[in-house]
Amino acid sequence: MLFDPAPKDKREDFFDREEEIEKLKLLSSPITLILGLRRTGKSSLIKIALNELNRPFIYLDMRKFEEKRSINYKEFLIEVEREINKLSSKFSQLIEFLKRIEGVSIMGNQVRFKWQGNERLSFTSLLEALNDFNKDLIFIIDEAQELIKLRGIDLLPPLAYAFDNLKIKIVLSGSEMGLLYRFLRIEDPSSPLFGRAFLKIELKPFSREEAIEFLKRGFSQININFTEYDKVYEEIGGIPGWLTYFGYTYSHIRDLRKSLDETFSFAKRLIIHEFENFLADKGEARKRYLNIMRTVSASCSSWSKIKRELEAMEGITISDSIIYNYLKHLLDSSWIVKNDDVYCPSEPLIRKTFET
Ligand code: ADP
Ligand code: MG
Repeated sequence: MLFDPAPKDKREDFFDREEEIEKLKLLSSPITLILGLRRTGKSSLIKIALNELNRPFIYLDMRKFEEKRSINYKEFLIEVEREINKLSSKFSQLIEFLKRIEGVSIMGNQVRFKWQGNERLSFTSLLEALNDFNKDLIFIIDEAQELIKLRGIDLLPPLAYAFDNLKIKIVLSGSEMGLLYRFLRIEDPSSPLFGRAFLKIELKPFSREEAIEFLKRGFSQININFTEYDKVYEEIGGIPGWLTYFGYTYSHIRDLRKSLDETFSFAKRLIIHEFENFLADKGEARKRYLNIMRTVSASCSSWSKIKRELEAMEGITISDSIIYNYLKHLLDSSWIVKNDDVYCPSEPLIRKTFET
């Protein structure tokens, strides 16, 4: 069912994106990047492809760390360990490959990793062991930009090593696209990953036509007569997750205005929560980030207008470099987008959240 609010794992419950599914399934590069705003269907795309490929995989969901300001190697390895144990309960021979590397202890049929001292697990060795175990393995890190908070280990050398020498495939998804690029430092000549050609799959929000088709198909699946497609697109926009929530809500309460309002208040709660996470390390500048979001939500604004507004609010001069820095952080984390020299909220419900 299209309007099921959980992430999808079957193609028949997923609207369109045929090309993207096929592209992902090809895994034609050692590292594939899946990019798209929150709730555009990245996790669903991954689950569907994994289901159809039927290859062994490790799936790490970094959303778990969204609220943390930093992640240490131990916390990261605990997540990996859990997934490895899931995999080894299906493929017991995996243990044999893990036994050979330093930093691994086996208790019964449970794998434990050492995260400290001389014999701590090297992530490169782990990837090598997985490669020896099964070259078809896929290693997925969902919302990988969270790894920018990882302390005490640099994952770029292992990723570069895997890119150059191993057959296993790595898939990284990211909602905060600039931040993911900042983590990978693909364009930085001193980065281990510099110059590698990644396969990129971008999930854009639905266009008006796609959004309408999505709603039509969803309502017809559940035999509901619905006609106000344009109104829904105008208020909600094309983010698949919000449209899904709307369809789901409407199917229960059968009232257009109430369903739109309920979708917006649900979205607003989530967006505010996510913005709080974004602000967590912004200290004194929190209020300014909020003011920028309010300014661009009232109407898309040029750099100089944003500067003027911020200065007027505080009655002081703020240096250009500081303003650039704020806008860069907001762009990197996909809160805003820049089109033709004006800055706008990245989607309508973000605009609406900060407008009110
Ligand atoms: P992301 O991982 O990008 O945040 P999810 O895969 O979690 O997105 O999807 C968010 C919500 O939107 C889920 O409820 C999912 O079922 C729904 N969804 C996203 N894309 C589609 C699509 N193409 N067809 C049907 N439902 C979708
Ligand atoms: Mg996701």
